[in-house]
Amino acid sequence: MEPILERVAHRLQRGQRLGRAEALELFETPDVIGLGRLADQIKRARWSDRAHFVINRQINPSNVCVLSCRFCDFATKRGRPNAYEMTIQEVLERCSPELREVHIVGGLHPDWPWDYYLDMFRAIKREFPHIQIKAWTAVEIDYFSKKFRLSVEEVLQQLRAVGLTALPGGGAEVFSERVRKALFPFKIGAPRWLEIHRIAHRLGIPSNATLLYGHMETVEERVDHLLKLRELQDETNGFMSFIPLAYQPGKTQVVRRQASAIDDLKTIAIARLVFDNVPHIKAYWVTMGEEIASVALHFGADDIDGTIGEERIMHAADAASPVSLTRGRLVELIRESGCTPVERDAVYDTRQVYDHDPSTRLTTAGREPSLRVVPSKAESRVEGR
Ligand code: SF4
Repeated sequence: MEPILERVAHRLQRGQRLGRAEALELFETPDVIGLGRLADQIKRARWSDRAHFVINRQINPSNVCVLSCRFCDFATKRGRPNAYEMTIQEVLERCSPELREVHIVGGLHPDWPWDYYLDMFRAIKREFPHIQIKAWTAVEIDYFSKKFRLSVEEVLQQLRAVGLTALPGGGAEVFSERVRKALFPFKIGAPRWLEIHRIAHRLGIPSNATLLYGHMETVEERVDHLLKLRELQDETNGFMSFIPLAYQPGKTQVVRRQASAIDDLKTIAIARLVFDNVPHIKAYWVTMGEEIASVALHFGADDIDGTIGEERIMHAADAASPVSLTRGRLVELIRESGCTPVERDAVYDTRQVYDHDPSTRLTTAGREPSLRVVPSKAESRVEGR
C-alpha cells in the first residue's frame, strides 16, 4: 500500500479525521484502486452495500437570468430564441403522482414577482401533497432576499410555509475568490453561500452541498472547499449529502475536456474520506455518466441521485448522459454494481429496499409506486441522447 494510504488508514482506524495536507496528498496518489478500497471500507461501515436513489424530477422554470456567468451555458436573456419561461401550469404538468421529490432551480428571473414562487409551491402541494420540494440554491435565495426586500430568514420561512422541504446544494461552485472573479464575479461567494445554508440549518431546513470541479480550480482550492463545508457541518449538522459536479465544458471554452474518470473517482473517494460528518456522498450520474457513477459506488459513494425526468442545465452544456432514467434502469445499474438498491425520498428516509434478486423486494415502506419494479433493459431508458 502507498505510504499516504497507509497513513490515512491508520488515522481513520484511530478515529482521527483527515487534514488538509493528507487530502492534498491523496489527490496525488497513483494508487487509485487502493484509494477507492479505503473509501469503500468507510462507506460500507456506514451503509453496508446500500446504494440510494430517488424517483424525482428536475424542473428549471426559466433560463432567463439577470447574470451572465462566464462558465454557464444554461442562462440566456429574454427575447433570445432559446429563452423560455414556464407558467405555474407548465411546472405542474411536469409533476406526476409517482414522484417523491421535485428539484427546482433556474435562472435569476428579472421580473417574476415573489407571489409566482409562492404560488408555484402552493400549486404543487395542492395537486401532489406527497411530493417533497427541494428548491432554489443559495444564489437564488440571496437574489429573492435582495429583490423582494426580505431577510434570508423571511424568504426561507415563507417558502417553507408553502411547501419547501430542503435546499439543493448548487451555486457553491468552488469556494475560491480567484475562480469567482474569473468565472462568476457577480454571483455570491463562499461567505454568503455558507451563511445562507447556516440560516437554513438553524431554521431546521436541511440542504445538500456541491463542488463544481474540472474547470480552472486547483487541487488546493478543491480541498479548501471540502474543509469549509466540513467546518459548517460541524457547527450545524444540516447537510444531508455532498455532491461533486464534474464541469461540463459545453461552448464556454473554459476548458476543452471534461475531468477524467480517474479524477471523478478520486474526488468521490477523497470526499468520503474527508467528510466524516456528512452521511451521504452522491455520484451524480448526470455529470459523471451512468457507468462511472456505478463504479463510484465502490469508491465511497452511496447515492446516484434519481430519475431526473428532464435536465436542462448540464445538458445545455452538452452533457453526454441521457436526460432521464427510469426507476428500473437505476435499480438495474445499482444491482449490476453489486449493491442493494434503496429508494429514498428528498430527506433520505428509506421508502423501498430492493433485493439483489430482481423479482423480489425485501421491504416496502410508504406509498406504492406506480412504476414496475424491474423493467427489462430494452424498456428501461426513457430518453437518450
Ligand atoms: S450560473 Fe446561475 S446565476 Fe450565473 S448565469 Fe447561469 S443561471 Fe445565471
